Formats: sequence, structure tokens, C-alpha cells
Amino acid sequence: MAVAENWKERTSELDYRNQAFIDNEYVDAASGETFECISPIDGQVLTQIASCDAEDIDRAVRAARTSFESGAWADLPAAKRKRVLFKFADLIAAHADELALLETLDMGKPISSSRREDIPGVAGTVRWFAEAIDKIYDEISPADGKGLGLITREPLGVVGAVVPWNFPLLMAAWKFAPALAAGNSIVIKPAEQSPLTALRVAELAAEAGLPQGVFNVVPGFGTSAGQALGRHMDVDALAFTGSTEVGKLFLKYSGESNMKIISLECGGKSPNIIMEDTEDLAVAAQESALGIFYNSGQVCVAASRLLVHENVREAFLEKVAEFGTKMVPGDPLNSTTKLGSMVDENQMNRVLSYIEKGKSEGAKLSLGGSQVRQNSGGYYIEPTIFDQVSNDMTIAREEIFGPVLSTITFKNPEEALQIANDTVYGLRANVWTSNVNTAHKMAKALKAGTVNVNTTDGGGITMPFGGYKQSGFGRDSSLHAFDKYCQLKSTYIRIT
Ligand code: NAP
Ligand code: MG
Repeated sequence: MAVAENWKERTSELDYRNQAFIDNEYVDAASGETFECISPIDGQVLTQIASCDAEDIDRAVRAARTSFESGAWADLPAAKRKRVLFKFADLIAAHADELALLETLDMGKPISSSRREDIPGVAGTVRWFAEAIDKIYDEISPADGKGLGLITREPLGVVGAVVPWNFPLLMAAWKFAPALAAGNSIVIKPAEQSPLTALRVAELAAEAGLPQGVFNVVPGFGTSAGQALGRHMDVDALAFTGSTEVGKLFLKYSGESNMKIISLECGGKSPNIIMEDTEDLAVAAQESALGIFYNSGQVCVAASRLLVHENVREAFLEKVAEFGTKMVPGDPLNSTTKLGSMVDENQMNRVLSYIEKGKSEGAKLSLGGSQVRQNSGGYYIEPTIFDQVSNDMTIAREEIFGPVLSTITFKNPEEALQIANDTVYGLRANVWTSNVNTAHKMAKALKAGTVNVNTTDGGGITMPFGGYKQSGFGRDSSLHAFDKYCQLKSTYIRIT
């Protein structure tokens, strides 16, 4: 893929969208308040963002409701909705350089990632769900022999999406693409750390032909804008990605308001199990390193607990460290940089405090462990590996969301399974083995929404993505994503 190289110079061409996008226009927060949008690359302020609260959320929800009830989007023939979303995907792809640059400046991931993975992933997600629109059929039930039973899907109405900062636009797209494809209107609350791409893409949605009020983006803080969306009486469903702590709040908001449908994707503490019979330890080591260090470990499915068989432990750890050492954090705007900054100073400090906790609880620090590139003014942490971790240590139990690997040794498959499942999370698990029986047995016994065998990353958009236990419920990706954004209606017609 030919991509631009002179990223730093191109930042001067950027025109930040910093107001809310409601009813197809950019507007200030009703209060007139703003907050600073800081780039973690160098700690500099990029722009001031509209700091929206309940009043702005209400305005956006009313716009979304009006558009939904008008049928301007929901009642369009499927083929027309598809055409609009295809155009939206094309516009995103056509603005890939600009969107990638915004993403990298806003949250610090390497430009190579945002340009080659995030933004193409966003366009691909929109296209994938658009393609599905006129290929999904409803059902006819056997009913009772006296009539016809129709089982049809209907859009819910107004969908709220509260999304995180680790893949800012991609996680938003995982919600808005299926929600829009199903015919809903949407109100998105991006994370305060990373609102720029969602705000920019909103006008591309309008340009593609999404009717007024269908696609709204309301930036602001979680405690004000996020909570107001969760508590709004006229929001039909709320899709969330973020921490388990905040996910639980959305269940409360729903219970205390209109019982809106909640779906939660709340991260994890994924085990990555290296069995003694792993065929190629070098491949497994490289993927294991990428599985925890990619995006500086700010990944909900990060392979953060390395469970390795005692007989291969030493050789394997050596190889993981070798790959980790090569992943030196660099300037995210340099196209050869593999590891960028942490999303903000808070997250950096949070991760550094987990590293201190690991040391004080007796784990052995075998690689990294420090902040680097201080002179940049930004927030960078080097790849960090802990050895001799036991599964009851804090660094094995809590989601660190940083480039920090916790290594635990096991003696047999039963012990590996016991440790792997001993967590409150259940988003993903990986197992490496050359034995097909072991693969099947482990895959069945691992309590996680996704199990990978002989990789740390597989399946893509064609497979459902979501969690067991406190990783949440509801699935993104695949046709099952539609379940979250549709009502199922039973219509029975008596035939006389
Ligand atoms: P977070 O607070 O859960 O943020 C996720 C989203 O929820 C953001 O849009 C946030 O808005 C919003 N939010 C925060 N508090 C809220 C509230 N009281 N009511 C309604 N909405 C609220 O996550 P974080 O604080 O940025 O990160 C903390 C930890 O969460 C990370 O270290 C990581 O372990 C986990 N996390 C997981 C994922 C994931 O993909 N599963 C993603 C991000 C973080 P604001 O940005 O304005 O606070
Ligand atoms: Mg930011």
C-alpha cells in the first residue's frame, strides 16, 4: 500500500473538528465549555474540544429520535441504505491519510498502525455490514398449523455508543456500522482522550448521504456526557467498550432509567498458553511478544498472561525478550516506528504503578520496566517482562493495559487450564500445541469468548467478538453483531 511519508509536515494541513456533530451540523456545547485535547506524542495541546453534558446529549438524542421516526433512514429500501454506507466507506478510505494522522496525534499509536490497520479496518467494517444489509433474511415459524408465524428483525431506534481510546475510530465503527446497517440512528460519545477521528468522520457520514440526525457525535467526559447517554429515557440501547468498572455503571444507569438494552465489551486478562509440544517456538514467541506489546499493550485482548510449560520456559522466554527488545518506542509520526506512546500521562502512570506493584509483590523483572523518551514531552513505556509471576499477584489479576507481560510457569495441561480460567475475565485465550486433541480439549475447556489455537490473533470480522464473565456480554463483529441492534418481532397471522 502506497502511503505518504512526510507525516510531520502534514500535521500543519490539519483542520481539527472540535465541536459536537448533532443533526448534521457542528455545534458548540450548550454550556460553551471546552476541554484540552492533548497529544501524548509530545504533551502539546492540539485543540479545545466542546465539553458536552446532559443538555447536549438530550439534543442529540432528540435529533436521532426525530430522524428515526421519520423513516428517512430506517425505512429506506435495503439496497439504498447499502449504497449510502458503501459511499461512507469509500469516503473514509479516501481520507485515510488524514484520519490516520488525526488518530496518531490524538492517542499516540504509530502512524504505520493507524494508516495500515485502524483506518482501513474502519472502512472495511462499514463495507462489511453494508454488504450484509440485503442478504439477511427473516424467518417463518412452523407456528400451529392454523396460521403463519413471521419472525422479523426491526431496528431498535436510537442507539448510544460509549467508546474507548485504544482503537478510537475502529471501536466506534464496530458499534456504528452494524447499528446503522440495521436502520438505527446513533449517538456516539468518544473517549475524552481521542475524540478527533469520530468528529471528523461524522461529516463524511453526512456527505455520504446519511439523513440528518442519524449520525451524531457528542464529545465530553464520561461522568457527564457518558452518564447522560446511559441514563437517557429515550435511548433504546447502549453499546459500551471500556473498563469493567464503568461497564457495571451502565447496567445501573439502565436499571435506574428506561431499562435500555446494554451490551458491554470490558477487556480482559487473556492467557496465552505455550504447551510443551508447540511446533515452532520462534513463531509462537514472536506472536506472543506482538500479542502483548502491540499498541503498547492497550488492547482488550492483549495476551497479558504468558503461561509456559516448565520444559520450554527458558528457551521460549529468551525468544520473547529478543522480540521485545527490538520493539523500541519511537516517534509515532515516523513511519518505521513499531511502538508509540501511551494514550496519556494518567495511563502511563497507571501502568508504571503496576510495574512497581509487580516488583514489590516478588515477581522478577526480566525486561524493561521504565518510562522512556522523556525528552519528547510525551508518555512512553518500554516493553516490560515479568518472570516468576504467580496467578494471585496483582499483575496477573488486573488488566494493566500497557506493554507489561506476566509469565507464569505450569507443569501439565490441567494446571495450565486451571490457571488460565482463574480470572474474572473471559475475553480471549490462546493455546499453542501441535496435538489436535490437545487443541480441541483446551479450546472447549477455556472460558473465553474467543480461543485461538497456534496464533494470538485470528478470525477477523467474520467471527463474533465478546466476552464471558466480567469481560461483558453481547458480540461485536460477524452477523451476530446485529442481535444487539434489532428487536425480534413475532407476527402471527391466522388463516381462515
Ligand atoms: P473507561 O473509563 O472505561 O472509558 C471508556 C469510556 O467510558 C470512555 O468514553 C469514558 O469517557 C466513558 N466513561 C468513563 N466513566 C464513565 C461514567 N462514569 N459514566 C459513563 N461513561 C463513562 O476507561 P479508562 O478510564 O479510559 O481506562 C481505564 C482502564 O479501562 C484501562 O486501563 C483498561 O484497563 C480499561 N479499558 C479497556 C478497554 C477495552 O477495550 N476493553 C478500553 C479502554 C480502557 P472518558 O474518556 O471521558 O472518561
Ligand atoms: Mg487525545
